[in-house]
Amino acid sequence: MIDTHCHLNFKAFKDDADEVIKRAHDAGVTRIINVGSQWDTSARGVSMAEEREGLYAAIALHPIHLYEQEVDEEETHFTTRAEVFDYDKYKKLALESKKVVAIGECGLDYYHFPKGENIEEVKKKQADSFQQHIDLATELNLPLIIHCREAYDDLFQILNEAVKAGKLPGRGVNHCFLGTREQAKKFLDLGFYLSFTGIITFKNASPELLEVVKETPLDKIMVETDAPYLAPHPYRGKRNEPAYVVEVANKIAELKEVDFKIVLDMTTKNAEYLFTI
Ligand SMILES: [Zn+2]
Repeated sequence: MIDTHCHLNFKAFKDDADEVIKRAHDAGVTRIINVGSQWDTSARGVSMAEEREGLYAAIALHPIHLYEQEVDEEETHFTTRAEVFDYDKYKKLALESKKVVAIGECGLDYYHFPKGENIEEVKKKQADSFQQHIDLATELNLPLIIHCREAYDDLFQILNEAVKAGKLPGRGVNHCFLGTREQAKKFLDLGFYLSFTGIITFKNASPELLEVVKETPLDKIMVETDAPYLAPHPYRGKRNEPAYVVEVANKIAELKEVDFKIVLDMTTKNAEYLFTI
């Protein structure tokens, strides 16, 4: 299996990343895509990938890192550092390693607005940064890993225009999809994949989200952990890790009433195709 989105490059794994990778291998998760959220974690993801077989990297500046702000959620609390997206610097990093397989995670986040900032300006800054990521993915012919939170309308507008302009030949994936059926359809119509996390295993998972899993064709689905966040049931509340991606695939098999092996094969093939790995 492939965990298509996790963050072994984050502090949460600084002491035991290799043990975590070993546990993933033992669980059959032999390939892992480490996703960056700013310069430091992007660069670290690339060097980790260079040192280890089966590890790949995606690089980008996440929209919540455009401003310094406190992020406080059920499973995490941290202060982000402000960064401006440096196109050439990220481009150079991508070109330095064949293990860089995507640009991401990037996109729009209207859930975490920095306090005291003008909302329209924040939105504009996020859109500008996202646009640059689209251009970089286009120039390097890499797929995009999209983060979108409560910003689907604006995101689709940007993506539609990009695709119409011939950009993003490699398309991409909406990671940790949490949208509606209609939003799911829009991604699929644009040629994007949907990827699901442990959220679909939660006892209080939204019925519409589970419907989306049921209705999305298996050849458009990928699985991920988003570790260290979003540990699936029965590990909810603990630090998540790539080995647990099996729980996500299990839940998809259950919802779609198909064999686990079919989910495993299809989601792996999809990831191999999208990320050329
Ligand atoms: Zn993530």
